[in-house]
Amino acid sequence: MTHIARIDTLCSVCSENMDGVFYSPIAFISLPYCHECYGSREPYWLLTAYFATLADTIADLRPETSRLPVGAQRLISNSLEVAGKTREQFYEDVMNKVKSFYDQHD
Ligand SMILES: [Zn+2]
Repeated sequence: MTHIARIDTLCSVCSENMDGVFYSPIAFISLPYCHECYGSREPYWLLTAYFATLADTIADLRPETSRLPVGAQRLISNSLEVAGKTREQFYEDVMNKVKSFYDQHD
């Protein structure tokens, strides 16, 4: 039996065996997902990059102050759980991405 790169067959979110390669619901890319993750969780790198395009400040992300739909908050919570990240880490990483987007154009 040949040694197939196992990493290509794992869900990009939870690293369990994937069920297929699907379009991400939030980005124009295809990624390997398992059925449990698809539609309810995204990989952390994609989550932070995506929400960096939607938020200017941490208040735009916090459930208490944000105008993001409930579904977006659910996606964040579900994804952070699997990624093992806290909300505070997420806010910080998103804000760093927001900064790096715009610093390039200074
Ligand atoms: Zn998964």
